[in-house]
Order: sequence, then structure tokens, then C-alpha cells
Amino acid sequence: MEKSLTAKEIEVFKARLLKRKRDLWQEVREHLRREIDEEYQDLLKIPLDEEDKSVVDLKEETALSLIEPKKMELEEIEEAFTRIERGEYGLCIDCGGPISVKRLGIMPETPRCARCQARREKIEKKK
Ligand SMILES: [Zn+2]
Repeated sequence: MEKSLTAKEIEVFKARLLKRKRDLWQEVREHLRREIDEEYQDLLKIPLDEEDKSVVDLKEETALSLIEPKKMELEEIEEAFTRIERGEYGLCIDCGGPISVKRLGIMPETPRCARCQARREKIEKKK
């Protein structure tokens, strides 16, 4: 049986989450800036007809698909902050049991214990 987190442990994880959040935002911002620059350069080179517009659309989609996993992680981090505020951090959202400190050390934003996560992944694979 895992013991629940101490206030000090929660502070450590909170600091790590905050840092991860800043890093992720930085990556997303830099990525967007790069994509926009490239788009702009292409637009300078070629006249904008229908074909070029679809190229631009494609680029936007590519940019978004690359950002998507970061966006998902950011959402998970936000949810982790909410759980910290509610005093529910470190507890599994499915079974309510404590998540191991080792697991939180690897991914502090995780909302589930290893057992519930494994069960959930099994269900999602069947879909
Ligand atoms: Zn659980």
C-alpha cells in the first residue's frame, strides 16, 4: 500500500510541473514562429492561386499535428494543477487510490495509477 504524498513532495512535483509547462509553451511558440516564417517565405516566391492556398492549408495542418501531443500534455499539466488545488493530487482519478511516487517522478502529470492506466489502454485498444 502506497502512502499519500507529503506537502513537501507535492511542492516538488508542482515546481516540476510548472517548469515543464513553461518549456512546452516555449516549444509550441518557437514551432509556430518557425512555421509562420516558412509560410511567409513561400508566399513571397509564388503567386497565390488556389493551388498555393492548399499548400498553406497543408502546412497549417502539419504544424498542428506536431503541436498536438504538446497541447495534450499541457492540458494534462493544467488538470494536475487543478488536482493540487483541490488536494487530490497523487490520487488516481479512476480508483481513488494513491499513485506511486516513483510513477509521479517519471510523469508528474499522470492522473491514474499504473493499474488503472494499463486497464484503460487495454480498453482503448479494443475499440
Ligand atoms: Zn487507479
